[in-house]
Amino acid sequence: MVDIYVLPLKYKEFKKIINFMIRGLHVETKTILIKNAIIIGDEIKKGSLITENDKISEIDYSNSSLNHADEVIDAEGKVLSPGLVNTHTHLSMSLMRGLADDMPLDTWLNDHIWPVEANLDGEHCYAGAMLACAEMIRSGTTCFNDMYFFMDHVADAADKAGIRGTLSHGMIDLGDEEKRKAEFKETQRIIDKCHETADGRIKVAFGPHSPYTCSRELLEGVRKEADKQGLRIHIHVSETQKEVEDVMEASGKRPFEYLDEIGLLGSDVLAAHAVWLDEDEMDIIKERGVALSHNPASNMKLASGVSPVSKLLEKGICMSLGTDGAASNNNLDLLEEMKLAALLQKVTTLDPTAMPAQKVFDMATRGGAAALGLEDEIGTIEVGKKADLILVDMKSSSLTPLRNPISHLVYSANGADVDTVICNGEMLMKNRELLTINEVEVISRAEEASEDLLSKL
Ligand SMILES: [Zn+2]
Repeated sequence: MVDIYVLPLKYKEFKKIINFMIRGLHVETKTILIKNAIIIGDEIKKGSLITENDKISEIDYSNSSLNHADEVIDAEGKVLSPGLVNTHTHLSMSLMRGLADDMPLDTWLNDHIWPVEANLDGEHCYAGAMLACAEMIRSGTTCFNDMYFFMDHVADAADKAGIRGTLSHGMIDLGDEEKRKAEFKETQRIIDKCHETADGRIKVAFGPHSPYTCSRELLEGVRKEADKQGLRIHIHVSETQKEVEDVMEASGKRPFEYLDEIGLLGSDVLAAHAVWLDEDEMDIIKERGVALSHNPASNMKLASGVSPVSKLLEKGICMSLGTDGAASNNNLDLLEEMKLAALLQKVTTLDPTAMPAQKVFDMATRGGAAALGLEDEIGTIEVGKKADLILVDMKSSSLTPLRNPISHLVYSANGADVDTVICNGEMLMKNRELLTINEVEVISRAEEASEDLLSKL
C-alpha cells in the first residue's frame, strides 16, 4: 500500500538529492587567456597561453586559434615566466627587517632576534607573514618554503593571499626531553590542521631547525615520523664555520656526515645554506638525493661564507634559491637574489663563465619545484601544470633593448618590474595592483605588530 501523504515528501527529497548531484557534477570552469607574451617555455617564443581553473590548458605559438576566455590579458612587451620558487624563508621575520644589521650570526641571534622572538604570538606571525606575502607576490614569487613558529597563522596568511607554500614548525630542543615532546606535539598540530589545505596550495613539512639546535633523538624521531606520514623535511645545515666546528666537537663528524649516520638524509630533505662542505659531504648529498637551498644575500650579509654552488651543480645536485628571512637579507626579492647568486659564484671562482644566467634562472624555477617535490606540478610552463605564472614588463628603460629575456630577468630586472602574478589559476596581482591583499591595511598591521614586539623588550 502506498502512503499518499508521504509520497510528495519522498519525491521532494528525491529531487533535492538529484539537484545536489547535478550541482556536484557541474564544475564551473574559469579561464584566463594571456596573449602576445614572450613565453619562457621549452623555447622562448611569442605566443598565447590559456589557463583553465588551476592549470595551464593550452599554449599556442601561432597566435591564431586562442581568442576567448573569461579574462583576457594582452601581454605585449611582457615576458611570461613560471612563478619563482623561494625555497628558504621565515616570512614572519619580516617584522624584524632592519632591526639589527652588520654583526655576526651568533650576536645577531642571541642579542637581537631571539629576545624579540621570545614575545612572539600568532597575531604577530600572521601580520609578518601577510606583509611577506604582499612583498613576494609583488616581486614574482608564487611558492615559498617557510620555517618558523605559529605556522597555522602563517598558513592563514598564505591561504588568504592566494600563494603556494610548504610550512614547517621550527623544532628546537637543545637536548631537553620535555621541549622535544612539545615540538613534536606542535608539529603534529600544524600537520593535522594545515597539510593539504587551501585547494592543495599549502603543505606541511617537518622542520628540525639544525643539527646544532636539535638533539639526535629529535632528528631520529623526525625521520621516523616523516617516513610514516609521507612528509618532507626542511633543515638548516652548515651555514657557518662555527656550526661545523660545534657539530664536529659534539659528534666527531662533519654535519652532513653526522646527519647521514643517523639516517636523516634522503630525497625528501631540503637543506638550507650548505655553505661549508667538504668533498665527502658533497658526495653524500648527491648519493642521498638531498636538495639544497642557496641563500647568497643572507650568507654575504652575515659573512657566513660562499656555498660551492658551481661545484654542486656540476655534481648534479638539486639546487634551488632562497632569500632566508627579511631580517638577514633584507628583502624577499628573488629576482635580485638570482643576480647575487650568479655574481657571487663568478667572483669567488674568478671565472666569469661560472653560474650562467640560465642555470640560476633554473634554480629559481624548476630547481625550486624539484627541491620541494613539486616538479610535476610547478616550475615550468607546460600544459597540464599548475597555472603559477608571472608577467614581467620589459617596456622599461632598464630593460631595453630586449635581446635575451633570461639575461634581463637575472641581471637587469628586479621585483618592481613584475606586472602580473597568477597562482593556482587565480590572479593575485594585475598591472601591479594586488588583488587578494589590502596592502595599506597589511602594512599598518605589520607596523603595529613590530612596535608591539619592540615595546615588550
Ligand atoms: Zn633560515
